[in-house]
Amino acid sequence: MFILLVIAGIALFVRNMRRLRHNIRLGTVVDTSDHKRERLIRMLRLALGQGKMGVRPVAGLLHLFVYVGFIIINIEVLEILIDGIFSTHRAFGFMGGFYNFLIGAFECLALLVLVGVVTFYIRRNVLKISRFHKKELQGSAQRDANIILYAEMVMMSLFLVMNACDYLLQIREVAPYAKVGAFPVSQWISPLFASFSTPVLIAIERTAWWGHIIGIFAFLNYLYYSKHLHILLAFPYTYYAPVKPKGELNNLPSVTREVQLMLGTIEDNGAEEPTPTFGASDIMHLSRTQLLAAYSCTECGRCTDECPANQTGKLLSPRKIMMDTRRRTQEVGENIRKHKGVFQPDNKQLLGDYITPEELWACTTCAACVEACPMEINPLSIIMDMRRYIVMEQSAAPTSLNKMMTQIENTSSPWGYHPSEREKVWKE
Ligand code: SF4
Ligand code: SF4
Repeated sequence: MFILLVIAGIALFVRNMRRLRHNIRLGTVVDTSDHKRERLIRMLRLALGQGKMGVRPVAGLLHLFVYVGFIIINIEVLEILIDGIFSTHRAFGFMGGFYNFLIGAFECLALLVLVGVVTFYIRRNVLKISRFHKKELQGSAQRDANIILYAEMVMMSLFLVMNACDYLLQIREVAPYAKVGAFPVSQWISPLFASFSTPVLIAIERTAWWGHIIGIFAFLNYLYYSKHLHILLAFPYTYYAPVKPKGELNNLPSVTREVQLMLGTIEDNGAEEPTPTFGASDIMHLSRTQLLAAYSCTECGRCTDECPANQTGKLLSPRKIMMDTRRRTQEVGENIRKHKGVFQPDNKQLLGDYITPEELWACTTCAACVEACPMEINPLSIIMDMRRYIVMEQSAAPTSLNKMMTQIENTSSPWGYHPSEREKVWKE
């Protein structure tokens, strides 16, 4: 049964990761072979080192507990796998003093993870911190956040209960519970179980053991559907994201080519070129890095908190831009899988059906969202690509902008003054 569980858990995880890869590859190809050193340093700083989490120290420290604790405690999974496959009990117990240290450290970390997730739960559901209760987080997103908090609480509790019962069974010298491990936390909860008979203790210990490993596989496979995918994707995203100053906007290659052709700096080789799309109306027009960013977003809302448009009551929320991009990518990916690899038009697109022009035009392009994001995710780049589509493909820019652009075109001045009058106007 255990081996079947492991095979099923891993097979499902591989299937989910293949789906994820397929979805991200729906975006356009970007060259990420440059600046290898800078990319690596950024990944080590932001993903491994949690470099920007300390900006909000309390949340940063709690997140560090959960991050370090959760990763290190999962070393324990290796022992559980060996025990499960070979029907041993505490296979690493032969390490003696070092094993005592490991189990002791795992228990302390499990306690810190519990403190972290319980505090996160209180901040979200009792204190109701405003960024966790914006419109885009209502419903499934809020449920997802809470499911993960419950799952972490349950898994850490099962780990401590398992050890508490093991500790008691070791004292009673029940086979195969040989005296191994140190239990600095669970020995304090063991009195809760001390009155139980040995068979009941074994049953609780085994149930907690199975529950812990089943929980880990369930968690692993739930990731694909959850914002918690960031625990895996923070690393590739911080490596593959473009290396450039935060507010810098890219030139569209399709526009650059058109301009070069007009200026005669490149030759039209007469080859049939596919009609370029200017900007993005759907996820297929976004880059793979932008789609990876959407999957990496933790929905923490720090970007929305800092966004001047959101602060002044506009419809725009940069977090929603990332959430919508991910939802649409999932939808398109499912559509393609259902129709044997071919996308069936569904009369929907990212622009309009998910993200409205009103949201897009509310952006001031200040890049405060990028600065605030712990992973330096860039909602601004998606906003700009979609605006470009509205302007260049739909010619549907707001009237005030059209007027300004015409004036720049005619007089090189957004206010429409003739160049010869600039100084005069300024003096007046
Ligand atoms: S760049 Fe746009 S979305 Fe980002 S913080 Fe500024 S106004 Fe908000
Ligand atoms: S884009 Fe960054 S700051 Fe905004 S919600 Fe996602 S992870 Fe948080």
